[in-house]
Amino acid sequence: MEKEHTLQSLKGKGWFQVAPGVWGIRDVFVNMYLIQNVRTRSWVLVDAGLRTSARKIKRLAKELFAPHFAPAAIVLTHGHFDHVGALPKLLREWEVPVYAHYLEAPYLTGRSAYPPPDPYAGGGLISIMSWTFPQDPIDLNGHLLLLPEDKSVPGLEGWRYIETPGHTPGHISLYRESDGLLLAGDAFATTKAEALTCTLAQARHISGPPRYFTTDWVAAETSVKKLAALQPSTVATGHGRPLHGKTMQHRLQWLADHFKLIAKPHFGRYSKESAVAGINGVEYVPSPPASRWVILAGVIALVATSALIYNRRKS
Ligand SMILES: [Zn+2]
Ligand SMILES: [Zn+2]
Repeated sequence: MEKEHTLQSLKGKGWFQVAPGVWGIRDVFVNMYLIQNVRTRSWVLVDAGLRTSARKIKRLAKELFAPHFAPAAIVLTHGHFDHVGALPKLLREWEVPVYAHYLEAPYLTGRSAYPPPDPYAGGGLISIMSWTFPQDPIDLNGHLLLLPEDKSVPGLEGWRYIETPGHTPGHISLYRESDGLLLAGDAFATTKAEALTCTLAQARHISGPPRYFTTDWVAAETSVKKLAALQPSTVATGHGRPLHGKTMQHRLQWLADHFKLIAKPHFGRYSKESAVAGINGVEYVPSPPASRWVILAGVIALVATSALIYNRRKS
């Protein structure tokens, strides 16, 4: 009873229950998940949010799993700054392995930076601001282990991981077959992740992977089709609220069927050509979109400003 009361008191402070044995924490605009292994009672952390997320993760872990509230493992859907931010702090306290896909390892061991974000990708203010986001790779040497090839998830019975590249080269999603629960990381989002207002308000909207960080739109489309084909009962993503039921399934299928039209940027750095990556990291990055548009926008802004100054002086 006491524990229930404490959990209730944490409600509204960024945590939510997704399904039996699965809890989520939202920090500013990104989610991370705590999953309990039913048989062993141990738990696994999926993604590690922002630098500020460590305190929130530990607080909920303590409420749920005390007295032994360190996880058995941490699993990463991918290594973007908003999914690994709390790791340095957490790993100082928790001597636990961190698992990721082998194609994500270069960005988690300091070997390679991701391809640059795409401020031309459109969709909202967050895309435009994306060039300011941290881009240096985190170094998890000594902690990082590769996910097993048999698609099992260490520390989590009944779950498997699904390769869902496109947003990043080694992006994975997690799936619990018994109840159709899908944790999709940034393979797609349940809010418009590029729009600041939607993200802060957590507006419900099944949309493609966050545009500014997605560097292979061909692979991203295949990944969304693969996930929609599962017909999950519940989806919980890196950005946005968990969604359930038939309406969600129809919207996810709609996204898969019309991906090029509604998810892929029409005019972005990676729209025509994808970045290429291998086991050692990034191998090729296409040039930014034709600079003539940028120059044209600059010329229009210059002409408009000059006209304004001229008119003011004249009057
Ligand atoms: Zn991401
Ligand atoms: Zn993200």
